[in-house]
Amino acid sequence: MLEGKITKGIGGFYYVDTEKGIYECRARGIFRKQKITPLVGDRVKISIVDEEAKKGVVEEIDKRDTELIRPPIANVDKALIVFAVKNPKPHLSLLDRFIVLAEKENLEIVIVLTKADLDDDNTLENIASIYELSGYKVIPVSNKTKLNIDKIKEELRGSVVVFAGPSGVGKSSLLNEIDANFQLQTGEVSDKIKRGKHTTRHAELLKLECGGMVADTPGFSSLTLDDIEENELKEYFIEFYNYGDCKFGSKCVHENEPGCGVKEAVENGEISKQRYDSYIQLLNEIRQSKQGKRRY
Ligand code: GDP
Ligand code: ZN
Repeated sequence: MLEGKITKGIGGFYYVDTEKGIYECRARGIFRKQKITPLVGDRVKISIVDEEAKKGVVEEIDKRDTELIRPPIANVDKALIVFAVKNPKPHLSLLDRFIVLAEKENLEIVIVLTKADLDDDNTLENIASIYELSGYKVIPVSNKTKLNIDKIKEELRGSVVVFAGPSGVGKSSLLNEIDANFQLQTGEVSDKIKRGKHTTRHAELLKLECGGMVADTPGFSSLTLDDIEENELKEYFIEFYNYGDCKFGSKCVHENEPGCGVKEAVENGEISKQRYDSYIQLLNEIRQSKQGKRRY
């Protein structure tokens, strides 16, 4: 049997990328009985049915490390969360929301700050210092001056990656810089195409020149926190780990409890106040949404 990875799925056909090229495969009936649907990103073993026509059958699906819902892709390792320093103005609470969603999915996170060429008031440095303090890798980028495009390529090499972030921050432009074959349109046209794509197309993994693969649609297009419990949110603020020595132990949500190690660290400046405030804001949002559900 031949090993490969599903890069596309359309109408019951799975396109499996192997060292011998791409095979168009059906899935074994047994998967349906087991209620397993092959996913883009799945590592699979196929048997070849017709070598000339490049047709095969998916025989085995490896256990998934991760499984995203939006876009529906298995075994993504990394999220590049992209925000611009300007145009559009970066909303850090929105960035924190993206981080929470990516942490929940257990992805490695890299924060990419685009439009570095437009930075005229130290926004870049301020944002970088907040997120570096949290423990994240932050890479400033300019698609215009090509600043750090090589570093982004380095991040992509050998990984399966989703780009995430609001529209207009330069995700498509960045992909175009990374890979000349990657003919994503930028600007208005691309917005139209993107909107159309969501309704008609399935997720697809695209192979990059620099090695690695990228999802053709941005990650976490739904930004709801509905699947997160009140006492779970703190797990996705990774800088809290080191200060979890609270009087109320694991029950502490680091809000109004006495003897809270996290609150103390915020006061000492060891945890960013900005991040902590974001946490409290998201915590309240989760509570409100759960209350709403209980009422109706
Ligand atoms: P997307 O919606 O995140 O895919 O963003 P696009 O790639 O479509 O870019 C939105 C707009 O920002 C376009 O007009 C780009 O030309 C512009 N843009 C993208 N990256 C940069 C950058 O690094 N510097 C500057 N000055 N403009 C950029
Ligand atoms: Zn606490």
